[in-house]
Amino acid sequence: MHNVIIIGSGCAGNTAAIYTARASLRPLVIGGLEPGGQLSITSEVENFPGFPEGVLGPQLVENMKLQAEKFGAEFRHGTVDEAILTERPFRLKIDGAWVETRTLIVASGASARWLGLPNEQKLIGKGVSSCATCDGFFYREKEIMVVGGGDSAMEEANFLTRFGKRVTLVHRRDQFRASKIMLDRAVANPKIDMILNTVVDEIYDITQGSVTGVRLRNLVSGEVYDRAVDGFFVAIGHIPNTKFLNNQITLDEDGYIVSQGGARTNITGVFHAGDVQDRTYRQAITASGAGCMAAMEAERFLEAEGH
Ligand code: NAP
Repeated sequence: MHNVIIIGSGCAGNTAAIYTARASLRPLVIGGLEPGGQLSITSEVENFPGFPEGVLGPQLVENMKLQAEKFGAEFRHGTVDEAILTERPFRLKIDGAWVETRTLIVASGASARWLGLPNEQKLIGKGVSSCATCDGFFYREKEIMVVGGGDSAMEEANFLTRFGKRVTLVHRRDQFRASKIMLDRAVANPKIDMILNTVVDEIYDITQGSVTGVRLRNLVSGEVYDRAVDGFFVAIGHIPNTKFLNNQITLDEDGYIVSQGGARTNITGVFHAGDVQDRTYRQAITASGAGCMAAMEAERFLEAEGH
């Protein structure tokens, strides 16, 4: 019987692990499908306090893990197939084996959103990607396209200019969600072109087994045309990883956990941390802060129950 199981090993989960481990609760952290979370696929992080020169995302999250392990946290690879939260102790099926826990911290984050085009999934790893840091290297001196109008798209477009001959950013509106500083950087970058009010209708070429181009459609003029592309990066936001909860925790219409205040969910003893609940801030530092909150609430809950 575990005191605390933490689902997810991003900033939120790892910070919750540091706090609960220091409280001698010996937390078990389930790594999830994307161990290390969003930070593990990002490059330089310039806004996490305490690093005036910046820090590499994978390094930052690995440091958090080491820090948690130092105090007794156990990390396990795997994903939660099923969760029974209707009675306590809570039961989780992790890669086929059941475990029990007195409290649960859900820090399972959010995963990349895709456009949903017919060939998109088939061409992942063959020119289609959601991670510039992971795949940018493959497109040296090639034509790169990035879809999206938020900070992720700006960041990816800027990063990809290190590799590509040219980076074309395609956005469905002429207004951006991106912060001014990120947008300004992209606009000022001579290797970035922008195509606005435009959507991608098709990705070619499934018969060749790799990306060769796209079909674009201007939403204002209705013009439809093809464009040659080698690397196609989708940066249009994320979807919360809450399917495994099977609606036992109250979720909003997009699948994010609805907070009941602090780090509390609608189930006593189950807490939330990070992007799985936060559709607004979604930063490394806010996820870490949320992990701390969840850990403190779990600790108090266990103490009140005499554990
Ligand atoms: P986001 O802010 O939600 O932006 C998503 C973008 O994708 C929007 O421009 C949206 O267009 C577009 N989009 C969504 N679905 C689409 C579809 N089906 N087809 C075409 N376009 C679509 O997501 P994000 O950029 O991933 O950022 C998420 C959060 O992380 C934000 O809070 C951001 O500030 C933060 N972030 C920060 C940094 C940094 O500071 N270094 C880096 C990355 C992300 P519409 O605008 O038309 O809806």
